[in-house]
Amino acid sequence: MSRRRWMRRACVALAVLAWPAAAPTADVSKEPADVILSGGRVWTAAEAQPWAEAVAVRGDRIAFVGSSAGAAALRGPRTQVVDLAGRLVTPGFNDAHLHLMSGSLSLERVDLIEDQDTPAVQERIRAFAAANPKNAWVLGRGWLYGSFAGGLPTREQLDAVVADRPAYMECYDGHSGWANSKALALAGITKDTPNPPRGEIVKDAKTGEPTGALKESATSLVEAKIPAPGVEERYALLLRALRLLNSQGLTSVQDAGYGPDEFRGELPLLERALKERALTVRLKASIRMSPGAADAAVAEASWLAARPPDPFLRFGTVKGFVDGVIEAHTAAMLEPYSDDPKLGRGEPNWDAAALNAAVTAADRAGLQVYLHAIGDRGVRMALDAHEAAARANGPRDRRGRIEHIETIDPADYPRFQALGVIASMQPLHANPDLNNSAVWSRNAGPARAGRGFSWGNVQRAGGRLVFGSDWPVVTSDVLRGLYVAVTRKTREGTPPGGWLPEQAVTLEQALRHYTIDGAYGAFEDGERGSLATGKWADLVVLSDDLFKVAPEQILKTKVLMTMVGGRVVFRDEGWR
Ligand SMILES: [Zn+2]
Repeated sequence: MSRRRWMRRACVALAVLAWPAAAPTADVSKEPADVILSGGRVWTAAEAQPWAEAVAVRGDRIAFVGSSAGAAALRGPRTQVVDLAGRLVTPGFNDAHLHLMSGSLSLERVDLIEDQDTPAVQERIRAFAAANPKNAWVLGRGWLYGSFAGGLPTREQLDAVVADRPAYMECYDGHSGWANSKALALAGITKDTPNPPRGEIVKDAKTGEPTGALKESATSLVEAKIPAPGVEERYALLLRALRLLNSQGLTSVQDAGYGPDEFRGELPLLERALKERALTVRLKASIRMSPGAADAAVAEASWLAARPPDPFLRFGTVKGFVDGVIEAHTAAMLEPYSDDPKLGRGEPNWDAAALNAAVTAADRAGLQVYLHAIGDRGVRMALDAHEAAARANGPRDRRGRIEHIETIDPADYPRFQALGVIASMQPLHANPDLNNSAVWSRNAGPARAGRGFSWGNVQRAGGRLVFGSDWPVVTSDVLRGLYVAVTRKTREGTPPGGWLPEQAVTLEQALRHYTIDGAYGAFEDGERGSLATGKWADLVVLSDDLFKVAPEQILKTKVLMTMVGGRVVFRDEGWR
């Protein structure tokens, strides 16, 4: 509150004391706005009034949403008026599932996600290594299983482009890794190294030598050897990441899982950003809950949740991984994998009774629970666990979530609505690229692939969706996510009718999942997520009216301005 307003309120309070009957009530709503955005199209995400022409902002809150004339009534001598000239305003975007710290670290690694075949991947790594001769390790991320014969890369392929230094490339989904010979040697991985629990050192069928591919927990054998960046470097990368997110229209994110100890290391960086007013994205962070260590996660998340609340940094969530991923045959399926039934159906990370007990304990502590579940058996176990917690602890507004849901048994669709469990899904994971068409669909088989990333079915069964990216798994660019959400096509427009087009959602639905539904999934829908008087002034100005253009134009649309809590945190250079 400004000092002037405070003084006026104080004066009115005194007046009330003196003349209670005749006292005028202080009507802050008539005071001039700080900023008025008018002359555009405002999509508010509010059911009662989805469309408006103008928004007025006072302090960190929305003071008015409605007609341009109505907003003009709040114009004072110091009010900044922005003529939208027909541009579209929406609530600030929310990413319901990303990884802020690994995302920020990824900014100094080579990104391989756009490369479709092995030579293209190799060439990008070679160029990056040549451009960064001082890096002790050559690090990258984003490779796709479909880019390699057999679905996994080899150390020879990496040695061919980086021979002088250790090199390590994380798969786009974070569940597999690719090391060159130097990195394997530094990690002490030989043909005799046993697989760690819940992990696999992929070995050559004939020689028994490690191939360079590592699955699940085996990735940490090499990752543990990568020198950690210093505090100042990490802080600088965090600020870069926040600027990137703001430039994409993001004003709030939910972080999907830090290890309890890991987060103790990150918290000071976030607190410093908060103090320096540099935390320009509202962050809600979750603590990872692992089998055998659920109590520690519940204790850590409860300790964090008891901190004084801040509108930019919140806690109160734990996240468990029920299973892995379909590409690496680590997602838990009800039936064996289709490409090679000998591989079995994928083992869950948790025993069902232990998972139910952990989710029930977290729920009893008042925490919200996210469960990563990708295979149809994993999804069922996650639904069962949320159900067990509700049965044990009784009704409450718990907003349990399941993350990813890449395939699902048809019997489980109605359970989202019945249990009030939120489906947290990532449109760009359904990008019908080579990875999904060649590897994912092959492993899942036609029946399960036919229910791949089935947002439409979840919605039709009454389930509530929230959208995110899983950045750095894929880009956090919301406009690219919106495009896939409504088209189920690649950027190149393939396949022509879209992949399982009945699973696409409408633009308005997609925007809701990126705004008000995301806020609901974070227990913040009372404060943000729609443009309504009294909510935080978190909004985006877009170059094109997404509701009027062809879907392809979504990819060319630019974020012109991002405002968080009334503060402009990003402005396109070409705009005003
Ligand atoms: Zn994730």
